[in-house]
Amino acid sequence: MSLDADILIIGSGAGGATTATVLAEAGLDVLIVEEGAWVEQGSVVPFSLDQMDQQYRSGGVTVALGMPSIAYTEGRCAGGGTEVNSGLYWRPPGELLERWRHDFRIADFDPDDLLSIADEVETAINVRTVPGPHSAPSEVLRSGAAALGWQHSEVPRWMTYPHGDDATKGERQSMTRTYLPRAMKAGARLVTGRRIDRLVIDGGRATEAIASLPDGSTERITFRHVFVCGGAIQSPALLQRSGVKGHIGRTLAVHPTVKLAARFADELNVPDDVPVHQVKEFAPHLSFGGSASNPGLVALSLLDQWPTFRRAVTDWPRMSVYYAAITSQGRGRVMSVPRMKDPIVTYRLTHADRELLRSGLARLALLMLEAGAEEVFPSFRGAPSVKNRRDVATMQHAFSATKATVMTVHLCSTVPMGEVAERCGADSFGRVHGYRNIHVNDASLLPTAPGVNPQASVMAFAIRNARHFVATGGSRA
Ligand SMILES: Cc1cc2nc3c(=O)[nH]c(=O)nc-3n(C[C@H](O)[C@H](O)[C@H](O)COP(=O)(O)OP(=O)(O)OC[C@H]3O[C@@H](n4cnc5c(N)ncnc54)[C@H](O)[C@@H]3O)c2cc1C
Repeated sequence: MSLDADILIIGSGAGGATTATVLAEAGLDVLIVEEGAWVEQGSVVPFSLDQMDQQYRSGGVTVALGMPSIAYTEGRCAGGGTEVNSGLYWRPPGELLERWRHDFRIADFDPDDLLSIADEVETAINVRTVPGPHSAPSEVLRSGAAALGWQHSEVPRWMTYPHGDDATKGERQSMTRTYLPRAMKAGARLVTGRRIDRLVIDGGRATEAIASLPDGSTERITFRHVFVCGGAIQSPALLQRSGVKGHIGRTLAVHPTVKLAARFADELNVPDDVPVHQVKEFAPHLSFGGSASNPGLVALSLLDQWPTFRRAVTDWPRMSVYYAAITSQGRGRVMSVPRMKDPIVTYRLTHADRELLRSGLARLALLMLEAGAEEVFPSFRGAPSVKNRRDVATMQHAFSATKATVMTVHLCSTVPMGEVAERCGADSFGRVHGYRNIHVNDASLLPTAPGVNPQASVMAFAIRNARHFVATGGSRA
C-alpha cells in the first residue's frame, strides 16, 4: 500500500495536531499518521488500567535507566499526551523565553509574539479555573501552603464543565476535541494505527516514510515535507533510526518527581481527578502538586515501604497522593538500537538534583502536616512515616534518591531549537540542521525543561513554527 501527501505529520499530540491545523488551514495537503488509536473521551475511566492499555505507550510502564532510574509515561493515541494528562495550563514564563532566545540563539524570536499565540491557544482549548468549590485534595495544598505563608495558586485547566459546579467532572479539551477536528475540517487526513518505522533519506532530503501496521504489513508514504511530532522520546528515536546525524537525543530534560501519600481524619479521596492547586514558593527549582489517587495508585505510592505502610492501604478513602517536582540540572539520552523497536533511554540526576528531591519531599511533608494530615507516607525504601515536625527531619535524613520511586511525565529537549551548532538539533523554526525538508515540531524542541507544565509551550512553539513555514513558502522549497 502507499499514501502520498504534500506534508506528512508524524504524531497527533500537542505538537502534531497544532501543526496540522495551521498547515491545513493555509490550504496545504496534510496527512497525519498516528501510531495509537482514536479513543473517545469518556469511553475509558481516567487513570484506569484500561486507559493505560489503550492510550499509553507500553501500558504506561517505561523507564529511563540511571541511579535512580526514572519511570516515565507517554501517551500513544490520537491526541497523544493531551488525552491522558492532567490538563494543568502554564504559559511559558517570559524570562525563560528570553533566556532560551539568548542562550540557544533562536533567531527571529520575540517572546511577546509567542505569548500572544498562547492567548489564542487559551481560547481554542478553553483554559479556565474550576466553576465551583475546589476538591478536598486540592484544598489540602491550598490550606497547607497558606498556613506556611508559601506562594500557591489554582492552576487553570483546558476543561469544560458541562455538569455544572462539580470541579471534579470536567471534560478535557484535548486535541481530539479541539485542534484535530479543526485540522480535519480544513482537509487534513488522519490515519491511526500506523507506526512510522523510519524515513528514507537521500542527499539531505527525506523522500518517503516506511510505516508498519498492526497486522505486520508495511506501507510507504511519499511527501515533500515531513514534520516529526512523536514527542521527546519517539522523535529523536525515529530520526536516529533513519540515519539523521547531529544533535539528536543527547539532551533529554525532564521534571523528576518524588511522591508521598497523606492520610487525613476525614474522607477526601477523588479517584478520577487531580488537584488543581500548585505551590510555587520555591519555583522554578521546586514545585508541589497533587497526583492521581485512585486506590491502585494509593497502594502504588505505599509499595516502596510495603512491610510497614501496607496497614494504611485500607484507609485509601482518607488518603491522597502528592508530589514534589524539580527542575533538574541533569540530562538524559535517547538511543535507538538496531533491531530493537524501542530506544534505550537513560537519565542522570546531579548531586544537586538529589538534594533538591530530598528537601522537596521534606517540605512537602511539612505542608501536609500543616494541612492537617494525621500521617504521611513518603515513597522511598526504608521511609519512616511522618506524624510531626520531628519526624520530618528524621525522614529527610533517611531519604536517598536511589531508594525512591522517581517519576516524570514531562519530557523535553531532545532536539533543541536554535542556531548554536554544538547544542541545537534543529534551527530556529524546527527544521533539522543539515536536512532540507525534515522538521521537528513537538516537545523535543524546547531548549530546556520549562519548570512549569509544558504543553502550552509545546503548542505555542509548534504554531509559531508552522506559521513561519507557511509565511516563507516552505512547502514550495
Ligand atoms: C500523564 C501525563 C500528565 C501530564 N500532565 C500535564 C499537564 O497537566 N499539563 C501540561 O502542560 N502537560 C502535561 N503533560 C505533558 C504533555 O502532555 C506533553 O508535554 C505534550 O503532550 C507533549 O506534546 P508532543 O506533541 O511533544 O507529544 P505527544 O502529545 O506525546 O504526542 C506524540 C504522539 O506521536 C505519536 N507517535 C510517536 N511516534 C510515532 C511514530 N513513529 N509513528 C506514528 N506516531 C507516533 C504518539 O503515539 C503520540 O500520540 C502530561 C503528560 C502525561 C503523560
